[in-house]
Amino acid sequence: MKIAIIAHDGKKADMVQFLTNHIDVLKKKEIQLVATGTTGSHVERAGLKVERVLSGPLGGDAQIATQCATGDIHMVFFFRDPLDKHPHEPDINMLMRICDVHNVPLATNPASAELLLKGLLADAVV
Ligand code: PGA
Repeated sequence: MKIAIIAHDGKKADMVQFLTNHIDVLKKKEIQLVATGTTGSHVERAGLKVERVLSGPLGGDAQIATQCATGDIHMVFFFRDPLDKHPHEPDINMLMRICDVHNVPLATNPASAELLLKGLLADAVV
């Protein structure tokens, strides 16, 4: 099970906090994490193991989308910042579209991500 994690700048602290709070589930389910570049470095600094792709604005979202399309990523936690502008908005929309095309569970905020993890624990998702 591989989960992609992406957080906009205003949400990176929330992502680190979320993952730290749920470290037990991640370990229990042997979840591999893959992250866009800067999100990944924040998560690494918190002591978690994560595979990093390019930074989101440099194509990282597109790399994550590719892995969703090929079935290599099974779930996406994408903590977007709705109060900020993003130069790579087309890539963001593309990633969300690809998740819908391939029926990949996508959580865009911590409350949704928590429910997805609970689903995983109950073997209800994927
Ligand atoms: P980042 O990319 O993790 O490299 O900041 C996230 C994004 O904005 O898509």
